[in-house]
Amino acid sequence: MHIWPLSNNEKTDFFESSNVETIEQIKQEALKALASASDEENIKSLSVRYLGRKGAVTQFLRNISELPAEQRPEAGKKANEVKKYLESAFNEALKRLEAESGAARDRIDVSLPGRIAPQGILHPISQITRQICDIFTGLGFEIAEGPEVEADYYNFEMLNIPKNHPARDMQDTFYISEDIVLRTHTSPIQVRFMEKHRPPVRIVAPGKVYRCDSDLTHTPMFHQIEGLLVDENISFGDLKGILTTFVHRMFDDQTSLRFRPSFFPFTEPSAEVDILCVMCRGKGCRVCSQTGWLEVLGSGMVHPAVFENVAYDTSRYTGFAFGMGIERIAMLKYGIDDIRKFFENDFRFLSQF
Ligand SMILES: [Zn+2]
Repeated sequence: MHIWPLSNNEKTDFFESSNVETIEQIKQEALKALASASDEENIKSLSVRYLGRKGAVTQFLRNISELPAEQRPEAGKKANEVKKYLESAFNEALKRLEAESGAARDRIDVSLPGRIAPQGILHPISQITRQICDIFTGLGFEIAEGPEVEADYYNFEMLNIPKNHPARDMQDTFYISEDIVLRTHTSPIQVRFMEKHRPPVRIVAPGKVYRCDSDLTHTPMFHQIEGLLVDENISFGDLKGILTTFVHRMFDDQTSLRFRPSFFPFTEPSAEVDILCVMCRGKGCRVCSQTGWLEVLGSGMVHPAVFENVAYDTSRYTGFAFGMGIERIAMLKYGIDDIRKFFENDFRFLSQF
């Protein structure tokens, strides 16, 4: 006997046989087909074939009204049971299929090479700052810090730079208010330290400083490190000795130094320090503008006016101070020609160090 599809002329025969038996047969046929359905598409088309608008179970239900009245309740009940049963069987099959493909997707292939998590590194500026600090702490200096938003008083006045001094040029300084600036150098840290400590003083003060300036060799924010040594009988010879030792340790002991007279408001006498060009070794190149020398440091003996500001006895104590740009040192050490590369956060650049 044909169960499905039902043709019109078979319908009479079909309902004359046992209706309960017929719907049971539809169920068995559907389950058999489901058992050999291997993919989602198969299962869905079976669902349409049995439960869809023209499906076998639906047709059966639709035709129940044509049965003799006494057979309708049992046939209806059975057909509804089969319908529910098949619905849940199809759904189960679909869920199982989905779970299996998910499991396959999540399966770990232990033969694949592991993924290496990218490892960060210290920024080259941090590395150079640490190297510089290590050299000076090795020479008995300690590390001091101070605020980046600084009082005009500490940034200028206490360093012998009065209100009308040309070094205060508005174009160089970021003013927050008339009396508050972003520090233009790390020197105010010296003043703050001296206010709280009596000599002997041996400090280096690294940190960020700010100036309105931006080109290949200047950025509005950069890093400086400042040094200060105050004690009895400190001379310019001590300054030369400490800075020579520093340069030899930072670069190598073939890197000679040259001291040129200069002017800073807070030191007297003052000297700019050049080192033999680390690129050409004095022959002359683009980096040293063919001079064979590179300017790297400002330095000098602390001006007595600065000592007087912090009530140090100038008849007893002398001292020297020096400062340098950390980016400048890093550029020379690593042969980098554009300071802005340090601040672009390009990992390809940064990971070379
Ligand atoms: Zn050179």
